[in-house]
Amino acid sequence: MTKNREVALALNEISLLLQIEGTDKFKHLSYARAARSVTGLGEDIEVIRARGELEKIPGVGTGISKKIESFLDTGSIKLLDELREQVPVKVWELDAIPDVGPKTIKMLYQELGIIDLDSLEKALNEGKLDDLKGMGEKTLEKMREGIAIARLGSSRTLMSDALTAAEPVVTELRRLADVRQVEIAGSLRRRRETIGDIDILVDAVEESKVMDYFVSASYVEEVLAHGSTKSAIRTKDGLQIDLRIVPAESYGAGLQYFTGSVDHNVKLRSIGVKKGLRLNEYGLFRGEEKIAGSDEEGIYKALGLAYIPPELREDRGEIEAAQEGKLPNLITINDIRGDLHIHTDQSDGKNTIDEMLTAAAKKKYEYYCLSDHTQSLTIANGMDESRLLKRIDEIDDLNVSGNWRMKILKGAEVDILADGSLDIEDSVLSQLDVVTVSVHSRMKDDKKKMTERVCHALENKHVHVLGHPTGRLLLKRPEFEINLEDVFETAKKHNVVMELNAHPQRLDLNAGNLRAATRIGLKIAINTDAHYTSELDFMQFGVFQARRGWVTKNDVVNSYSLSNLMKAIKK
Ligand SMILES: [Zn+2]
Ligand SMILES: [Zn+2]
Repeated sequence: MTKNREVALALNEISLLLQIEGTDKFKHLSYARAARSVTGLGEDIEVIRARGELEKIPGVGTGISKKIESFLDTGSIKLLDELREQVPVKVWELDAIPDVGPKTIKMLYQELGIIDLDSLEKALNEGKLDDLKGMGEKTLEKMREGIAIARLGSSRTLMSDALTAAEPVVTELRRLADVRQVEIAGSLRRRRETIGDIDILVDAVEESKVMDYFVSASYVEEVLAHGSTKSAIRTKDGLQIDLRIVPAESYGAGLQYFTGSVDHNVKLRSIGVKKGLRLNEYGLFRGEEKIAGSDEEGIYKALGLAYIPPELREDRGEIEAAQEGKLPNLITINDIRGDLHIHTDQSDGKNTIDEMLTAAAKKKYEYYCLSDHTQSLTIANGMDESRLLKRIDEIDDLNVSGNWRMKILKGAEVDILADGSLDIEDSVLSQLDVVTVSVHSRMKDDKKKMTERVCHALENKHVHVLGHPTGRLLLKRPEFEINLEDVFETAKKHNVVMELNAHPQRLDLNAGNLRAATRIGLKIAINTDAHYTSELDFMQFGVFQARRGWVTKNDVVNSYSLSNLMKAIKK
């Protein structure tokens, strides 16, 4: 269990508090940058510290590295404690409201003494914000919705974070001599985008030994319950993990039951009833006789169903498909042959081209597309035409150098401007292998405008992929308003691929949208949008999401060989 997340949260809190306290104009920027770097680390920060390399983390100088050390040793930072005393505001709570930043938080605190979500909600309900400057009816309405989003965020965790927390726990449990079987269950096993609690299911030789071990492990911050068959702990990352012990003869039934979803299980039980069978967490029974229960496959089989992968268990037609033997043959991580959307330090990525290529080569990719931002994204140091042309030459050189087995594709993530035009000339776009277009600005356009804007961009004859089509950031920013049906139709007409952005905070498109897209024959590109070498690992999260969306290998262009990929995206 790493402390990366806690360190990043502390640095981010310092940055927010500095902005509210307001004596220094720039110091907060370096803390925000350091927080972002720590979040993106592909390695345990304590391991980096042990090597004496904290200062090598981008944005972490001597001052901040000392503070990180203090945090790792004592759990606190003097500057943070002082700031909290001066500004007793739960900034992380208020900052989680979409469109509310330090400026607003400061104003709310100074004018109305608002310090957290509860006091903000109370003030809103009492009409105290009505007379504040810049608070129109629409802004207040958005703020109300935003409070709900922020609340959700504090009670839920990204699937990627939950998996990162759960996998080492499972690995440690598996090593115990008393553990026969151990699996993650619950919504995490179904790979939902966000997770409440983590459920782990164990089949053990001696229950009490496993439980004693679990509640006293190094990652435990607080023991919430300690029983012989069920215990619950809170980790140092603030996640709740429930561990259940189930006897071997019921392990499959328990795993099936605790994996859910509730809707899926209700329908399974009703199918059982029609066959004169009773299904519960202990097994599948005919009268008193148990006919299945030790493994999941046996339960589905006895109910007359093909085995249903956990990602599909939402009662969205998977049970009917399993009855008819028509379950989709879902994409797997091993099917992926390349990544079509990554950034380098030439725009806002943190690693060089060479470092990104080396990381991709380790994945044994067949092709890899460098797709940095374009010029209108100035904060990301986007490329203009002349830089892009230079990049094209550079990639040609790399491809003939013989240093790389994979084909390096020429790409860009081109900005869709307000009117739907692109910020790079057609004459340059035509020289790229993969042109991805994305919305990064004016995300509050109304539905009609946004739909027309994106559709217009897709009509450009050089465009191959629509990047992160809804712009959402999970637990942070809702999708922008857009009519995806129209977008899909336009994409179909102009042979544009939909991206499934695998960044765990995006997972954009969502499962339902993926199904709608592939239903009309659109192809999908599962891309990491990596800004660090470590983020190439995001591919797995994209594949999980694709599976939730019933996506097969044939639907995914970056599972194709290079020549088939080029054929598939050809205009
Ligand atoms: Zn983007
Ligand atoms: Zn990107």
